[in-house]
Amino acid sequence: MSKKLTSRTEDYSKWYNELVVKADLAENSGVRGCMVIKPYGYAIWEKMQAQLDKMFKETGHSNAYFPLFVPKSMFEAEEKNAEGFAKECAIVTHYRLKNDELNPGKLMVDPNAKLEEELIVRPTSEAIIWSTYKGWVQSYRDLPLLINQWANVVRWEMRTRLFLRTAEFLWQEGHTAHATRQEAIEESEKMMHVYADFVENFMAIPVVKGLKTQTERFAGAEETYCIEALMQDGKALQAGTSHFLGQNFAKAFDVKFANKEGKQEFVWGTSWGVSTRLMGALVMTHSDDNGLVLPPNLAPIQVVIVPIHKTDEQLEAISSQINDLMADLRKVGVSVKYDNRDTHKPGFKFAEWELKGVPVRIAIGPNDLENGTYEVARRDNLSKEVVSKEGIVLYLQNLLAQIQTDLYQRAFDYRNTHITEVNSWDEFTSVLETKTGFLSAHWDGTAETEEKIKELTKATIRCIPLDRVEEVGKCVFTGAPSKGRVLFAKAY
Ligand code: AMP
Repeated sequence: MSKKLTSRTEDYSKWYNELVVKADLAENSGVRGCMVIKPYGYAIWEKMQAQLDKMFKETGHSNAYFPLFVPKSMFEAEEKNAEGFAKECAIVTHYRLKNDELNPGKLMVDPNAKLEEELIVRPTSEAIIWSTYKGWVQSYRDLPLLINQWANVVRWEMRTRLFLRTAEFLWQEGHTAHATRQEAIEESEKMMHVYADFVENFMAIPVVKGLKTQTERFAGAEETYCIEALMQDGKALQAGTSHFLGQNFAKAFDVKFANKEGKQEFVWGTSWGVSTRLMGALVMTHSDDNGLVLPPNLAPIQVVIVPIHKTDEQLEAISSQINDLMADLRKVGVSVKYDNRDTHKPGFKFAEWELKGVPVRIAIGPNDLENGTYEVARRDNLSKEVVSKEGIVLYLQNLLAQIQTDLYQRAFDYRNTHITEVNSWDEFTSVLETKTGFLSAHWDGTAETEEKIKELTKATIRCIPLDRVEEVGKCVFTGAPSKGRVLFAKAY
């Protein structure tokens, strides 16, 4: 096994980059800002997808697929959205290459193959989808439209990091259309709750549900709901967003319906998305200096079994017992791997599965065989126990559930001890320097103050928590009156 990871305290950011690569999740590619997601990383993403997809379908949504390209004029139709994404767009201008006569063996853009209209590689799909919805909605009977798309999008990010911010990323984007304002607001809130449910119960990451300020809102939305998480270095990460779009896209694309009285009305919309950024959140929340720590609900391998033997006979005896155990585990839905490679020593295997975050490791040697036991090790707290083989399946099922709960609890405790109430500018700046995490502070509600604070400290308003208590106070920066606290943090 290659040399140890940089520790988190030494250099958190280096630790993260090394871990993502060494644990075989992803690597940088030959394309600027774009990553290769490797099979082990993709297996985790697939588990996320499968669970989210199930949750979307349970809430009435269906999947569909729309084009990768958006003609520029279509993209421009909703002005605020277009303006907001303009600086991050990749644009297709030509459709053909030709031999470069001055440089044999090289190709050049064929100037005769210029597109009549440029195509934008979608940074988000509202434009293409609402232009399609126009043809799908005529009457109130056609509503609501509850559609989700699994896709890739491109945003030409200047500073990229594996999973957290890439130029191309994978995501899902829900796009719904409704007859009333109220129904659309309820939908955007519902999907924020679905995200929170997924992130807390599957990823074991506690989140704060809230509203974005006008500055941080999605371009073209009337309101952006979000879930914010806290990483181990005390920086916040936006884990998911759900937008109430009002009638903005319906007006831009002329999507109207005849209501029950036969009157024409514009449709109300929402959109919501989570991306491969969640992979970064997963790594940054739970992992340690030995490698990944995966919550059992998303681990591609939940239990790994390593045989310890000297002779072939011993291995044979172990393997025959393990084959039965694996069949029993699979029957109850536990994903298990038997690492009987004869090319690597047990110590190497232990380190490898530790690096890859497999929640439970079982070792079995000749003594265990004789005593009817297994050595069971937990990845999250590195504890070990000798367990009788009688009732091992139930024991492992309970253990996996316990690890899931413990990981959440640990992250929850960390998060809660990293929300600090501050009541003056002095407190704000000194806490920000000494203790990372969320700062709960009064803000006067203006974009100017928000901008000024960001400029001076790099901390941004992560959200206006939905469960905040109304409380009369004074803005930490300007002293102007405030109705309640918001959460500030430095963020990814
Ligand atoms: P948005 O459409 O801007 O609301 O973003 C939808 C989701 O994608 C949010 O959860 C964002 O955190 C995430 N996201 C935005 N930009 C990137 C990026 N460059 N790489 C990965 N995820 C992103």
